[in-house]
Amino acid sequence: MIIKSIGKIAENLYVLGHPAVPVFLADGDRPVIFDAGFTSLGEIYVKDIKKYLGGRTPYYCFLTHVHFDHCGAVSILKKYFPDMKIAASKQAKEIIKRPNAVSLIRDLNIAGKNVLKSYGLNIDSSDLFQAFEIDMTLDHGDRVEYSNNMSVQVISTPGHTWDCLSYYIPEQKILISSEAGGQIDLTGYMVSDCLADYGQYLSSLKKLHRLDVEILCPGHIAVFTGKDAKKYLQDSLEECERFRKRVEKCIVDETGDLEKVKTRIKAIEYDNNPGPKQPEPAYLINLEARILAVKKQMTNI
Ligand SMILES: [Zn+2]
Repeated sequence: MIIKSIGKIAENLYVLGHPAVPVFLADGDRPVIFDAGFTSLGEIYVKDIKKYLGGRTPYYCFLTHVHFDHCGAVSILKKYFPDMKIAASKQAKEIIKRPNAVSLIRDLNIAGKNVLKSYGLNIDSSDLFQAFEIDMTLDHGDRVEYSNNMSVQVISTPGHTWDCLSYYIPEQKILISSEAGGQIDLTGYMVSDCLADYGQYLSSLKKLHRLDVEILCPGHIAVFTGKDAKKYLQDSLEECERFRKRVEKCIVDETGDLEKVKTRIKAIEYDNNPGPKQPEPAYLINLEARILAVKKQMTNI
């Protein structure tokens, strides 16, 4: 099943906010939320948390990575739930200390309000992203029990970014992969999201593909269950190889001219895409990073 709505998706598992920029809640004795979305959706996440937890509060907020659309509302959540522990990788802890990272995340969250408009969502929020501290660092292999016989396994999945972690709840076969598992756009096109490093991205994806997944929570758009969850990870793995081969061929054909390579890949991935899609400048910045990740891999061989 492909679930493109918010609310309860399984026993003690909820999608909060908006499916395009979701926060996930796993309820238990010590409830966990995963990611913190857009700054402008902060109050909506809080409202949804209160709806499902009543007077109880989240104990942990596990961040997959500190891209602007995954950590935007941390300070708002902290305002309402000051005892909630913010957990992420040690790389994320370092990144978020940098003033230039904080101002970039703030600017992108302001621009993010236009993304919500393309989904027909007019958010009346003047909240600005605020710096925050990571209270607890997580490593590959860590296991955090959040309820009786319920735990979150931490899986290091670099490649989309260097700080990426994915989270697996084995008792319910739930995987919170964010973009480490690949990301579909609104038309269903699978994007190989290897912004930082192609080889690491591929090996992270293989780690996720090996897991027994019944409920897959990617970074955006929808939640996938049953055979659709398995198909998603399979499609992502296949697209990863397809993207690499396509970029390698273009680099050879265009004798390394990056602009021409970008134009050719964009024609396939973006120009024919009816949308809604991300703004072209943002797409091009990401595309360049993805092409360079493949190019680096070519010279490593
Ligand atoms: Zn990301």
